[in-house]
Amino acid sequence: MIWCPRCDQGWVARARVPGEPGTFLLCHECDTVWADREPDADPPFLILEQYLARFGLDGLWSNIELLEKKPGE
Ligand SMILES: [Zn+2]
Repeated sequence: MIWCPRCDQGWVARARVPGEPGTFLLCHECDTVWADREPDADPPFLILEQYLARFGLDGLWSNIELLEKKPGE
């Protein structure tokens, strides 16, 4: 798991939307999503709320499944 290159304050974990194909990377702190590239600090940024709207979902963490635990958990 990598440290967020955008906010420098949180871990980036792999996650998925239950029932949808594919996975994405998500920062625990700033909610930035990297859906089709590795995490970097270059815009444009995609936020969890915007990403989940593609699936008709609200931008809630309860709508996703984390596939990795934060270090130490
Ligand atoms: Zn972040």
